[in-house]
Amino acid sequence: MSLITYAGLHSDYTLINLGNFRPELSIMIIPMEHDISSFLDLAFVFPLGCRLEDLVRTIIFCDDIDRLTEMFWWAFFRVAYLQLPTHVVDIIHSGLSARHQEIALQDFRDGKTVVLLGTSKISAGMNFPGVRWVIQFGCDGLTIIDGGQRRGRGGRDGEDKTSTGMFFVEPKMLKDVTVEHPGDQDPGMIELLQSQECAEKIMQRHLEYPGDCTRDPSLPCCNRCDPDFRPPREYKWIDVNPGFTSESTEAKTTTSQREVIYNKLVEWRLDHWKQYWKDDWPNYGPKSLVSDSDLNEISTHTSKIFTVQDLQNYTHIVHWAQLSTPLFIAVHKI
Ligand SMILES: [Zn+2]
Repeated sequence: MSLITYAGLHSDYTLINLGNFRPELSIMIIPMEHDISSFLDLAFVFPLGCRLEDLVRTIIFCDDIDRLTEMFWWAFFRVAYLQLPTHVVDIIHSGLSARHQEIALQDFRDGKTVVLLGTSKISAGMNFPGVRWVIQFGCDGLTIIDGGQRRGRGGRDGEDKTSTGMFFVEPKMLKDVTVEHPGDQDPGMIELLQSQECAEKIMQRHLEYPGDCTRDPSLPCCNRCDPDFRPPREYKWIDVNPGFTSESTEAKTTTSQREVIYNKLVEWRLDHWKQYWKDDWPNYGPKSLVSDSDLNEISTHTSKIFTVQDLQNYTHIVHWAQLSTPLFIAVHKI
């Protein structure tokens, strides 16, 4: 009964076998740093400059199908831009055909897909070999029981059976609710996200693992026990480009420099459009991707653009998720 009480479940909720404690699984609770619809918190999954063999087998859960679809296109364009085969990322949810879902699961099992994005369609009992990261992108509406089940999709059947469950938390789950006043949320999940206690201990308590819960001390437990345990940081241009110093940020872009930059960006836009958009989106012209006035703004303020967020301040790009990374790289290659 306490499981039902803790998790705020209805008594007719069907409990799936919660299984045993698995010491090879670790947890990270990560407040989102970027706007949820930018997906920039997931950039580390497809780091700039990565090769096919660098990609980590990952499942990313998101329960909002529209957001998941946006995430897929963001990932698709990022992967294409990294010149990796686009089949490394795939999506599964109930709105897709049964045939697509079947193929998506098979491709992920076979290793053709490396990063699978999905909803609860990826359910308990589905096991895929060698999943190292299980990411929950946004925790709104998720119970701690489901969160525990999802994390359990990792570290199965592979040679290296360790895996990390990462819970990316949107700000409202940290600010607008509490364990005492959870609103529609599961108080167990709120405790997991908001407490400073060991995340593994909280999960064990709610999932009522039977028996011994001792861990192998050589494996990380959670990012509360070990604050250095965190996702790899996304590559930062400013760190690797020492020529781009604060002095140059003070320098005023001259009219002729601005023209050169503008022309290069127009050239980039045409190339990018031809390569990634032209065939699939015939109604779109290059200017539908990034307008002339946006390119003009960027060329005027290039010396102040250090982050993707800076770029966003100077532009009005509709397909931001798809275009932000390649455009940012293009600006910094100039
Ligand atoms: Zn811990």
